Amino acid sequence: MPQSIAFHGAAQTVTGSKHLITANGKKILVDCGLFQGSRELRERNWQPFGFDPRLLDAVVLTHAHTDHIGLLPKLVKEGYRGPVYATKGTQGLCKVSLPDGGRLQEEEAGYHSRHHTSRHPHPLPLYTEADAYEALKLIQPVHFYDFHDLPGGATFRYIPAGHILGSAFVEVYFDNGERILMGGDLGRYDRPILRDPVPVEYAEHLVIESTYGDRLHERGDAKEKIAGILSRAYEDRSVVLVPSFAIGRTQEMLWYFNELDKEGRLPDMPVYVDSPMATATTLLYMEPGDDLDDELKVDLTEGSSPFRSDMVKFIRDRNMSKQLNNAPGPFVVISGSGMLTGGRITHHLQAHVSDPSTIVLFTGYQAEGTLGRSLLDGEPTVRLFGHEIEVRAQVERLDMLSAHADYQEMMRWLSNFKSAPRKTFIVHGEPPAQAALQARIKAELGWETEVPSQGQFFAL
Ligand SMILES: [Zn+2]
Repeated sequence: MPQSIAFHGAAQTVTGSKHLITANGKKILVDCGLFQGSRELRERNWQPFGFDPRLLDAVVLTHAHTDHIGLLPKLVKEGYRGPVYATKGTQGLCKVSLPDGGRLQEEEAGYHSRHHTSRHPHPLPLYTEADAYEALKLIQPVHFYDFHDLPGGATFRYIPAGHILGSAFVEVYFDNGERILMGGDLGRYDRPILRDPVPVEYAEHLVIESTYGDRLHERGDAKEKIAGILSRAYEDRSVVLVPSFAIGRTQEMLWYFNELDKEGRLPDMPVYVDSPMATATTLLYMEPGDDLDDELKVDLTEGSSPFRSDMVKFIRDRNMSKQLNNAPGPFVVISGSGMLTGGRITHHLQAHVSDPSTIVLFTGYQAEGTLGRSLLDGEPTVRLFGHEIEVRAQVERLDMLSAHADYQEMMRWLSNFKSAPRKTFIVHGEPPAQAALQARIKAELGWETEVPSQGQFFAL
C-alpha cells in the first residue's frame, strides 16, 4: 500500500498533534506537538513516540503553537536529523518559543539544582534549551503556495489558515495525483491582523481539528467592550491586568488599542507590554507576509505600526516591571502567562488583586486547575507565592478573541469543498466536541468521517 496515515497525538484529545504520513515507504511527520493538560496527558510526553525518530524522512509544521511544535526538540534529541519545513512566520515563532520551552523543562526538572534525590517523577528535563537550538537548525522556511518536494515522490504546499502568524494548511500530493489536506488549526473570519482562512475546494483525504466542534464563540464587538472597560478604568484610576498569550492575543489587544487611539477614544493612560516573549512576537507580526490581512499590509508598507500607538510601552527590564507593582493607576499591563500559571503577571496580580478598583481582563480560555480559572470562577481568595490573598478585583473576559474557528465557522470553511473528500479525519478535540462535529458534517454535508484513536493507522 503506497500511502497511509497514522495518528500519534491529538487523537480524541486536543493536544500533542503528530500525524505520520507514509508515501512509498518514506515517512513524513506533520507536526510534533506537546501533550498539555492533565497529568495523564503530560505523562505521554515521556513515552516513546510510537515511531522511530531516526527513521523519519521529513517533518512539516502547520503552525507554532506548543501543542503542534513542542516535542520537536525531543525528536531531535532522539536522533532525527532530516529537514523540518515551516512557513517563515512559524520559523520565527519557533525561535522565540522553543528555547524558552527548553529552559522551562530544565527548571521544572530542577536540572541545575544539586537535589537529585527529590521525588520529582522526572529528574531530567524532557529536553534542554540546547536541544531546542539543535532543532531550530533543521528548520527550512517555505513560502506560502510554493510547491516543495517531499520524499517518496510527494510534494506539498502551504495555504494560509488564519489561526496565528504563519499558520497553514498543508496540502500534500502523492505521486498518484491524490492529495491529503492537513488542516492544522482553523482560524476565524472577519478578524483583524490575519487574513481569513483560505477556501479549499478539493482533497481526496482531509484531516480537520474540532476544538470547538460543539461550541459557538460570543459574537460581541471586542473593540466596544475594550473601550467600555478602559473608560471605566480611567474614571476609577484602575490598574487593568491583562494575562496575555504572547502569540496572537497580545497583538490583537494592541491592534484594538490602536484603533481606539485613532478614533480619539483611548483614554490617556499608559499600556505596558511586560513580557519579553510578547514583545519578540509582536516584532514578528510586523514583518510583511502572505498570511496578514490587507489592511495590516497597507499599514506596514506605509511604515505605521498598528501595534505601537504612543501609549504603548514595551518593558524588557525586570526592575521596571517591579516598579509597576507600586505605581498608581490608571494603567494597563499586558503580561504572561495567559492562564496565570506563572510569569510576571503573577507579581502584578499579587500587588493589585486585593484592590477593588483593579480589573483583571481575560482574553482567552482558562483551563481547569489554573489560577486564571479560580479567578473566573469567583474564588474569594487565591494562593500566590505561599500567601492566601483576598480577591477584590473585578474580573472581565473577552471570549470573542479565540484563535480557533467555532463549529459555525468550521462548517463555513468546509462548505467551500466542491466535492466530498473520500474520508475526513476529525482530530484535535475532546470526544464530545468530535461527536458533535461528526454528526453535523454527516447531517449537513453527508460526508464520511472518522475519529481516529491514538496510534490508529489508515491506508489512503
Ligand atoms: Zn493552534
